[in-house]
Amino acid sequence: MNDKSLIQEFKENLKKRKLIGTKCRTCGSIGVYPNSQCRKCGNASFEKVKFSGKGTLITYTILHAVPLRFKENAPLVIGLVELEEGGRISAQLNASQDELSVGKKLEAIFQEIDGRILLKFKPLGGI
Ligand SMILES: [Zn+2]
Repeated sequence: MNDKSLIQEFKENLKKRKLIGTKCRTCGSIGVYPNSQCRKCGNASFEKVKFSGKGTLITYTILHAVPLRFKENAPLVIGLVELEEGGRISAQLNASQDELSVGKKLEAIFQEIDGRILLKFKPLGGI
């Protein structure tokens, strides 16, 4: 499969509220976003990994200047999350700054906006 169809498949999975990534058959490296080649070893053979959606906050940043369509939600909190199964993803966090600290446990949520599914994270067990 080429990159375009892999990304399409990734999006289709998100619509079904599933987060599915890849595990390299050679080095075991886990990727969240689809790629036709392993970023570590260049191998092109993968198996699928279904993520639980749980992960740990590695770092985060607060964006005060946001695109107009996100204006109502400003400031945006963007986090880098390491998933339980491995692999890192950056996504918007549904949390305020004082709820967050590095190492915080998070879980994925799938929010529908204008018919598109947006992957976000929120504090584990939070609202
Ligand atoms: Zn690899």
